[in-house]
Amino acid sequence: MKIEVARDRCRGAGQCALNAPELFDQSDDDGTVVLLNSQPPTELQDSARVAAALCPNAVIRLVEDDS
Ligand code: SF4
Repeated sequence: MKIEVARDRCRGAGQCALNAPELFDQSDDDGTVVLLNSQPPTELQDSARVAAALCPNAVIRLVEDDS
């Protein structure tokens, strides 16, 4: 899995950092998403899916592996 974020659409709601703090943080400046790990290990991939599903602006895109 690879994680991509469209930071220009982020409104700083913080759901990502709440649900997957190992993968997402928020900027101290404006609260927008900071991607901590774009290639999450298997044990964090469900957290990434939850964060993507709950993001109100569909900022988080997950690219699943083909295999
Ligand atoms: S949940 Fe979405 S809108 Fe909110 S901070 Fe995270 S990426 Fe931005």
